Amino acid sequence: MSHQLLPVSPSAASIHQLFEGLKEHAPEQRKLSVKARVKRLDALYAEVWRRRDDLKRAMWDDFQKPPQEVDLTEIFVLKQEIKAIKKGLKTWARPQRVPGGLSLIGSSSWIRPEAKGVVLIVSPWNYPMQLLFRPLVAAIAAGCTVMLKPSEYTAHTAQVLAEIVEAVFDPREVALVQGGVETATELLQLPFNHMFFTGSPDVGKIVMAAAAKIPCSVTLELGGKSPVIIDPSANIKASAKRIAWAKLSNAGQICVAPDYILVHESKRDELVEALKQAMDALYPNADSIAQDYQRIVHPRHAERIQGLITDAKERGAQVVQGGEVDVQGCEVAPTLLVDVPVDSQILQEEIFGPVLPIVTWKEPEEAIAFIRARPTPLALYLYGKKRSLTRRFIEEISSGGVSINNSVIHVSSTDLPFGGLGSSGIGSSNGVYGFREFTHYRGMYAQRWAGFGPALMPPYTQRKSRLIDIVLRWL
Ligand code: NAD
Repeated sequence: MSHQLLPVSPSAASIHQLFEGLKEHAPEQRKLSVKARVKRLDALYAEVWRRRDDLKRAMWDDFQKPPQEVDLTEIFVLKQEIKAIKKGLKTWARPQRVPGGLSLIGSSSWIRPEAKGVVLIVSPWNYPMQLLFRPLVAAIAAGCTVMLKPSEYTAHTAQVLAEIVEAVFDPREVALVQGGVETATELLQLPFNHMFFTGSPDVGKIVMAAAAKIPCSVTLELGGKSPVIIDPSANIKASAKRIAWAKLSNAGQICVAPDYILVHESKRDELVEALKQAMDALYPNADSIAQDYQRIVHPRHAERIQGLITDAKERGAQVVQGGEVDVQGCEVAPTLLVDVPVDSQILQEEIFGPVLPIVTWKEPEEAIAFIRARPTPLALYLYGKKRSLTRRFIEEISSGGVSINNSVIHVSSTDLPFGGLGSSGIGSSNGVYGFREFTHYRGMYAQRWAGFGPALMPPYTQRKSRLIDIVLRWL
């Protein structure tokens, strides 16, 4: 297979040309057998595996992502996704007969899963391969042709991803364009059949507005503030270890990172000590900070996080761990804040960095009210052993997903839907849920013999009126 790699920020004309190729080829792609789709998924993984070292190098150059974490959170996650899809695809793609009911006697009905057509996948930088290729795998499984746009912030990785796509796919099946906002804006003008966007809530609204003009369906995997509630029955030491890991991996640049903690006031001091220890244990010295601790993707983001810390401090918050920011070096120390005033910016906007504000509560309703006063979170983390309290929090607080006594790890399950609600997103991904986003469930009906139909059509004689009455009463 050969097609030319597009230069960074391609022209509108070349984007249109790629789109036309995908559109023309979509009816053929839709007809691909399950076997042919699986072959493509295998080829994609084989190429990713072949380029494993290049991916590690690129992600190090982009934001000093530790190579071990490239293996675990990018390559392994993709492998699991492909495995789950290969296992289920035959069943998911099969037409499914459904009962028509007595009123439709004489007919048969079935659902035919069909590819939506040409789809757009736009991804952010924080997991630059996973968040582009995981939806790609679902779209290929569904039989779509795909336009990909990775983030401009992780340009080294985007280049390797472009080369992988070029090596595996015919550009009429999958095309990748690099570039920033300008390129994304150009793409959003095109009449796609579905748009799958992962990124910030603000840009999610722009994508949805563009989709409304076509119109086409959207999947919006967005972000927000995912709270942690710690009740008095929690094992504080064990909870702190899990929260510290979840908050500091990727330097807090995870859509489901614990954004802030709501801890029962009786446990606050114990928690602060346990978190300090857990953070120090993860990154015990300068060497481990240099090798294992990720950088913030861009000075602009480091500066934004610095601004959040400064604002909180100015309003009276106490820094009990960390607080140092090297904007040009893109390094933010693991930071804990207490006594954070509710009107601080850090309790209003998504942090997306390694800073953890801690707020206390006395009664469960205070914690519930605090979260309900903010947009619906992507994840809700509940730490505690008292089941009745956990159940109450689940029932009274909405969120995209819930994880009990752990954080972040739930998103790796290929059996759980992953997605938000309200401002944290629309639709889901992972396993069959991702497949469904790219699939149109076509309702199929065939009249086999006359059935009741003619007996219920005009002219409405007395006999027919009686029959209608029977239908209403008994069917
Ligand atoms: P972003 O919204 O700034 O960018 C995401 C993508 O949108 C990029 O490819 C970018 O080029 C493009 N884009 C930016 N501005 C655009 C515009 N005006 N019009 C069209 N496209 C535009 O997000 P980011 O900074 O890359 O990532 C961080 C955000 O993503 C956080 O809010 C985080 O919570 C969220 N996120 C969500 C998930 C999830 O699965 N729910 C996963 C990762 C990140």
